[in-house]
Amino acid sequence: MINIILFGPPGSGKGTQSEKLIEAYGLIHLSTGDILRREIAAGTALGLEAKTLMDKGNLVPDEVVVGMISAALDENPQAKGFLFDGFPRTEAQSIALDNLLAEKNTEIGVVLALDVSQEELEKRLLQRGLTSGRPDDINKAIISNRIVEYQTKTMVVSNYYSKFDKVVHVKGEGTVDTIFVSLRSEIDKRLSN
Ligand code: ADP
Repeated sequence: MINIILFGPPGSGKGTQSEKLIEAYGLIHLSTGDILRREIAAGTALGLEAKTLMDKGNLVPDEVVVGMISAALDENPQAKGFLFDGFPRTEAQSIALDNLLAEKNTEIGVVLALDVSQEELEKRLLQRGLTSGRPDDINKAIISNRIVEYQTKTMVVSNYYSKFDKVVHVKGEGTVDTIFVSLRSEIDKRLSN
């Protein structure tokens, strides 16, 4: 079993690479952004609360996302491993995740951090906004706010896992396939140990 965090700023390619990684390693994909968007589409109370924050590019409260992840872990007792995408996004979420995994006698194997320049991120998000239909991708001010949220609250997640020597940086620019090959080689190194 291997549990992986795919880490990086908005627009770094986490969603794209996650799809390929879960397929290659038979992992369960847990994207808090996707789960929240499903809640919004279903019109639940949680979805309504989250939508106001997400549309502005703000993070939703830790308790909300931690609750969703806890439920998803319980729903998949037979999983070969989990791929966390867009979670954890704060230090409190990281600590909560480590505790949830410890209760299940497992842990994070590796944090794969995708490095992409700020300029490239803004370009990709605006481009995605043309087709994604995501309200948080269309406006430059909202995109900048998401990047600020990342810099002020989320970047610390990588410092947190660095203390446990779990972070590996991977270049997130280039073709989808070259990035995928780099991610795979880091995972394979750890699986063979
Ligand atoms: P991106 O990586 O492009 O920002 P996501 O789909 O991961 O897209 O997230 C979209 C939005 O959902 C975030 O801007 C935030 O409002 C909310 N969100 C997703 N995951 C979390 C999380 N772990 N903690 C707080 N808010 C989250």
